[in-house]
Amino acid sequence: MRIGKPKMWSLGLAVLLALGSVARAQSMGEHRGPTSGSQGIGEHRGPNSGARSGRGELKVYFVDVEGGQSTLFVMPGGESLLVDTGSPDSRNPTAPRDASRIAAVCKLAGVTKIDNLVVTHYHSDHVGGLPQLVGMVPVGRFIDHGENREGAEVQGGASTVAGYNAYQKVLAESHAEHLVVKPGDVLPVKAMRVKVVSGDGEVIASPLAAGGEQNAACAASAMKDAEGTENDRSLGLVITFGKLRILDLGDLTWAKERALMCPVDKLGKVDVYIVSHHGLVNSGSPALVDAIAPRVAIMDNGPRKGGAPATFETIEGSSRLKGLWQLHTAEGSDAKHNVAEPRIANLAGPDAGNTLKLTGRLDGSLSVTNGRTGETVEYPAP
Ligand SMILES: [Zn+2]
Repeated sequence: MRIGKPKMWSLGLAVLLALGSVARAQSMGEHRGPTSGSQGIGEHRGPNSGARSGRGELKVYFVDVEGGQSTLFVMPGGESLLVDTGSPDSRNPTAPRDASRIAAVCKLAGVTKIDNLVVTHYHSDHVGGLPQLVGMVPVGRFIDHGENREGAEVQGGASTVAGYNAYQKVLAESHAEHLVVKPGDVLPVKAMRVKVVSGDGEVIASPLAAGGEQNAACAASAMKDAEGTENDRSLGLVITFGKLRILDLGDLTWAKERALMCPVDKLGKVDVYIVSHHGLVNSGSPALVDAIAPRVAIMDNGPRKGGAPATFETIEGSSRLKGLWQLHTAEGSDAKHNVAEPRIANLAGPDAGNTLKLTGRLDGSLSVTNGRTGETVEYPAP
């Protein structure tokens, strides 16, 4: 089967409409924020024109996959890169939750083909939605760290093996390109620079141009063992768009952060930190977060996954932080360990699958829009 047949795409759209993406679009239009004329996060200008309308801007959509990851980058000119695909949905094979949400965001963003799909690692909250997604949106190129190293004997390993095997079946049946990358590689993306800094358990051997300083945060940052799971093997990316730097390490673990950050910080400061591992305590060490000193952090937590109080405090305490955003209220945490509601896309209660959208500019300025309220916060260039 060739992936992304027009027929399949149409079916996907029909499913989405039936699913009630219309209802969500309506809720996006109900906001009363300063951008209320723009109807929430969508471009609403028909297929492809949305991407064209953002000339000179990078759009990043944080899809709510309920504590998994799926992050869509749309570059000037419409080139697209998706990092991860959320979870599988066996209960709703014709209208799977996460794949449908990702496809709906692609549509809003004017993306009719995912040019590059990065699989950070093979846990089901990252690769699980992939087989269902490729039936809805065609993919040009799959990028991953190579073989799955997590066996069924590890806790949760059976679903990892199943997710990897389902992905291999997609690769075998598709005519899309497949690229295995390692630390130091640069992805074949035109309108932004995407450097691989971790993968398959390894990290870059020497610092990036922005890094290279001794990292003062290492001494006070606790030591933790590697997990021995696919998390340790996450592909990590430093994305540069003009003066804007974005870090996405997937679920890279605390121990592997140390290899990247101590004693020398190999990364340097970033503007945007896509919070590692949904804000769980086995990632996001002070050695990482204090050194990268993000201006904006976006956490893809679920209602009861990630958003850990200790992780929250590390991020909130970092020296340059102007704004932390959450995909969900962390329902197991108190109000002091959640950001204010305007910076949360999905509050406790019935879930609407609201998205956060970041707009990045070449001068290093950026804004974040809450898909729940339509309100936008601007962050000027430093
Ligand atoms: Zn995860």
